[in-house]
Amino acid sequence: MALIVQKFGGTSVGSIERIEQVADKVKKFRDAGDDLVVVLSAMSGETNRLIDLARQVSDQPAPRELDVIVSTGEQVTIALLAMALIKRGVPAVSYTGNQVRILTDSSHNKARILQIDDQKIRADLKAGRVVVVAGFQGVDEHGSITTLGRGGSDTTGVALAAALKADECQIYTDVDGVYTTDPRVVAQARRLEKITFEEMLEMASLGSKVLQIRSVEFAGKYNVPLRVLHSFKEGPGTLITIDEEESMEQPIISGIAFNRDEAKLTIRGVPDNPGVAFKILGPISASNIEVDMIVQNVAHDNTTDFTFTVHRNEYEKAQSVLENTAREIGAREVIGDTKIAKVSIVGVGMRSHAGVASQMFEALAKESINIQMISTSEIKVSVVIEEKYLELAVRALHTAFELDAPVRQSE
Ligand code: ADP
Ligand code: ASP
Ligand code: MG
Repeated sequence: MALIVQKFGGTSVGSIERIEQVADKVKKFRDAGDDLVVVLSAMSGETNRLIDLARQVSDQPAPRELDVIVSTGEQVTIALLAMALIKRGVPAVSYTGNQVRILTDSSHNKARILQIDDQKIRADLKAGRVVVVAGFQGVDEHGSITTLGRGGSDTTGVALAAALKADECQIYTDVDGVYTTDPRVVAQARRLEKITFEEMLEMASLGSKVLQIRSVEFAGKYNVPLRVLHSFKEGPGTLITIDEEESMEQPIISGIAFNRDEAKLTIRGVPDNPGVAFKILGPISASNIEVDMIVQNVAHDNTTDFTFTVHRNEYEKAQSVLENTAREIGAREVIGDTKIAKVSIVGVGMRSHAGVASQMFEALAKESINIQMISTSEIKVSVVIEEKYLELAVRALHTAFELDAPVRQSE
């Protein structure tokens, strides 16, 4: 008998019919003798709808109040699933984050889990109940409801699995595993049998939203066996593993991630004195704006150009901060571009292979795609390109690194 935490995402609980299907599935595991904790998202589209309601009242809703409203989506699905289980003769009980007590810090809208009280859940499991927990939410020390950031139910699932020392955390979604790249963008994408935590963390932070970044961090830190599976189709899914050896047979690149969430800002004609980077980025970070990629050009005529990327939501704020800086330090101008995309290749195999970056640049050159910025780490290479070439770039790289699925014979 195993203790399994199962998390079902928004589309998997997107209608009453789907919730009934989830209940059938949970019952099957229960009948096989497993102890089950089920974590649910809100019905698909519901969190967006709630955010939209809040925005109709205020452009910048108070973060605490936003958490009060967005956390209601999950409260609906957990009750419906518990009812559907009880109807099937399976004892079940639902809990909000506050009721379990998933204690978080007080950073509303992006809270971090600090502690989980597992007593109540253990007592219910002992009494033979399936425990259904609302994903995405917790409570802070003041008793205020918090949420964990978009996609946060994954993190609830993994954190509960860690706290309960579950045998496995199963993330059920609308794809049958983690693919070499988003299968909605590249039809030839292939499901991976396994991917290391490290690679999955890069994929998630570089834009593959199949798992929330923090859920992968948690799983890696507490060594939670984690698997991504399709909610309604049978199959082995993808195992996220700590074991690098086992994936040595895989190609150098495991996957390609991308995002359209960033914008680029350049400050030109900056007098090139020591401390320039600090003068430019100091006010940006003082305004709480996160910077991702940075490039500073070699100076000529004693001036330099300095470019960096920020989240698109913060573009305008960053632009106005930078314009102030430009005036103060006597820079020539500030220019910006929101129509960029970041494409990244990820793979632990890169460590032992030279020339991976140039292979990437060659593949993009063949498609006449201009690279605007580059950044590398031990297991990834990222480039910024014009947004309109994103899909072409991802497809070209997928082929160049031999990730394409074998062409299917016509059926
Ligand atoms: P859920 O609502 O179940 O949490 P999400 O929409 O958050 O589901 O995540 C699943 C989606 O992630 C898929 O539908 C797919 O389009 C997208 N995705 C992006 N990158 C990948 C990838 N590398 N492998 C699989 N799915 C991916
Ligand atoms: N419902 C939340 C969201 O849409 C959390 C989740 O689905 O994981 O972001
Ligand atoms: Mg998700």
